[in-house]
Amino acid sequence: MERYSHLKQTDPEIYELIRKQTNYESSTLKMIASESYASFSVLEACGSILTNKYAEGYSGARYYEGNEFVDQLETLAINRAKRLFGAEHANVQPYSGSPANHAVYRALLKTGDKLMGMPVPSGGHLTHGWKVNFSGMDYVQIPYSPNPETGKFDMDQIRQTAKKERPKMIWVGATAYPHKIEYKDFAEIAGEIDAYLVADIAHINALIVAGVHPDPVPYCDVVSSTSHKMLRGPRAGFLLSKKEDRFQTNYFSDSKLNLAQRIDRAVFPGLQGGPHLHIIAGMATAFQEAMTPEFKNYGVQVAKNAKKLADSLLAKGYTLAGGGTDTHLLILDFRKEEFTGKEAAKALAQSGIIANFNMVPGDPRSPFVTSGVRLGTQSLTTIGMKETDMEKVAGWIDRVCRNIVRINDEAPKIRLEIAEFCSQFQFPGITE
Ligand SMILES: *Cc1c(COP(=O)(O)O)cnc(C)c1O
Repeated sequence: MERYSHLKQTDPEIYELIRKQTNYESSTLKMIASESYASFSVLEACGSILTNKYAEGYSGARYYEGNEFVDQLETLAINRAKRLFGAEHANVQPYSGSPANHAVYRALLKTGDKLMGMPVPSGGHLTHGWKVNFSGMDYVQIPYSPNPETGKFDMDQIRQTAKKERPKMIWVGATAYPHKIEYKDFAEIAGEIDAYLVADIAHINALIVAGVHPDPVPYCDVVSSTSHKMLRGPRAGFLLSKKEDRFQTNYFSDSKLNLAQRIDRAVFPGLQGGPHLHIIAGMATAFQEAMTPEFKNYGVQVAKNAKKLADSLLAKGYTLAGGGTDTHLLILDFRKEEFTGKEAAKALAQSGIIANFNMVPGDPRSPFVTSGVRLGTQSLTTIGMKETDMEKVAGWIDRVCRNIVRINDEAPKIRLEIAEFCSQFQFPGITE
């Protein structure tokens, strides 16, 4: 906590809360599938004086002066993003994943257009056309969901819906889908109906970098991502795209613009003002970290750990949505239990296992309580856990679930054991 010495002096209240959160995050099991630990380098870049600079526009075409170095910085971030993912074009300015997705709508659709996406209860993101979000208010979602029996995509069903409804864009990506996504199959469908195909890889980007998940870049017009979550960068979004638009029928007023230019214009000046250069710096650093062999090993180990955790839980008699996992996440299915997903997530948190409640396919309970708990292995892998550790984690999860009616007695014991266990690991951005 030495690097907070100024804050400690001038604002002890905030300092104290950061200190408490730091202790909490290094003495509990961080299993929320969308979180991670950013490195000291990423945190330093994000905490730098770049927070002061205004640079509306893009490198070489800014509306403010004094950009010699920040132009180089943003170009570096863009080039690293392109290299890391093998993309033709990258935009690193979106403030987060949702604004990145918003820009996709502005670049590809007109208000009132149809798009295909997964509803939130099926594992889609709010921005994939959900009703309470701008994307469901200003555009029309044609929903598709994993098959409630298998928990997997039924491509024949998706093709049928696509052909009947002819959406202009298909979102492929999820916040809670534990299986690999075959972008090639979605691209075939999009091709048959002349729809844009957009992948949202916010959750799984590191698996793609590590080569343990199919690569969307060759098959999709646009790929949207966050740079936090599994990528371990700052809280931000970025967009990758093809340069050219595949469709002659592009009905944009300014049709002289290619796809890459439309994406850029949608982000700025379409939706945002000045880019967050300190965050773009952190993103560039995270991209560089992601190009190392260590990062590939991390991605591979995340998937191995998830598989091991799933197998251990299955062996103890638990049910998993979709039968298991081949990504970083798994969803415990408590439909047959007396307790809800919300009660389970609360009991787990009380015991030092931090996760979230989540709908399961065919969930009879409301989205406010659900029958599931979503677990991710990317943070535990980041601090160095391996398969044998996953067996221990499965043991604690089992103990919590079996003792849920007397959790107030059991939780403090488990919480202590987990804190003790955590003390042997190295936490990026926390352990000096
Ligand atoms: C997290 C997430 C987003 C949005 O990210 P925010 O940064 O929270 O706005 C978008 N899409 C998917 C699939 C996500 O998981």
